[in-house]
Amino acid sequence: PPPPLYIITPTYKRPEQVAEITRLGYTLKHIPNIFWLVIEDATLQTPQLTRQLKRIGIPFEHLTAPMPNKFKKNKVKPRGVSNRNRGLDWIRANATDGVFYFADDDNTYDLQIFHEMRYTKKVSMWPVGLVTKYGLSSPIVRKGKLDGFYDGWIGGRKYPVDMAGFAVNVQFFLSRPKAEMPYKPGYEEDGFLKSLAPLNNTEIELLASQCTEVLTWHTQTKKNQPASNLDLKKYNGTNLV
Ligand code: UDP
Ligand code: MN
Repeated sequence: PPPPLYIITPTYKRPEQVAEITRLGYTLKHIPNIFWLVIEDATLQTPQLTRQLKRIGIPFEHLTAPMPNKFKKNKVKPRGVSNRNRGLDWIRANATDGVFYFADDDNTYDLQIFHEMRYTKKVSMWPVGLVTKYGLSSPIVRKGKLDGFYDGWIGGRKYPVDMAGFAVNVQFFLSRPKAEMPYKPGYEEDGFLKSLAPLNNTEIELLASQCTEVLTWHTQTKKNQPASNLDLKKYNGTNLV
């Protein structure tokens, strides 16, 4: 079998949650030797989500990791960071080889990228569509080499990349015991990738035909109306009575 591929998906309770996870889950179901870490920004698991994960039928772990209270009052919140760091803790405790990837619940993924990313030796990168008004975030490749980044917002980042645009080898990550994601909105990817240092640009593998193809998209789901508890039951597809 190919090396294991760990998918770390942050999610949170809202009317769209079970729908998003259903769409992503049936995409992942096409991929061999996959393990899905679904981590809720919550203190308690949403039972409708556990039920749906069982239905989809791929190996998974349903964990929880609430955003620390001190960030909840912020206007711009570090979305999905507690969850992803919980996923990284799980990898440290349970994984020995293979590759991991942060797959948000609302993005869109071509199956080809999973087949390519699972052979990542250290860190691999590729383009992501529908990011900022530029419509694309991508490594720039010249003469087969990484030569900078194209992104609508550089923000002084060393790695101006989207969360959907890179994967990491498990053994490489395990060799960087301090690697983690910062609670710093806009700088989550950059801070995490910097925490993997030392990492030379020549060691970053360029996937998706040398970054000439878009195989992942930063899609965003339109928000439904604010949900009451009854609404949540309805959208989550449980019995209504
Ligand atoms: N998320 C979360 N808690 C929140 C908001 C978002 O766990 O309070 C998750 C969400 O399910 C997604 C990821 O974090 O997988 C990124 O959030 P979102 O898609 O809202 O951010 P955007 O893509 O718009 O930057
Ligand atoms: Mn999103």
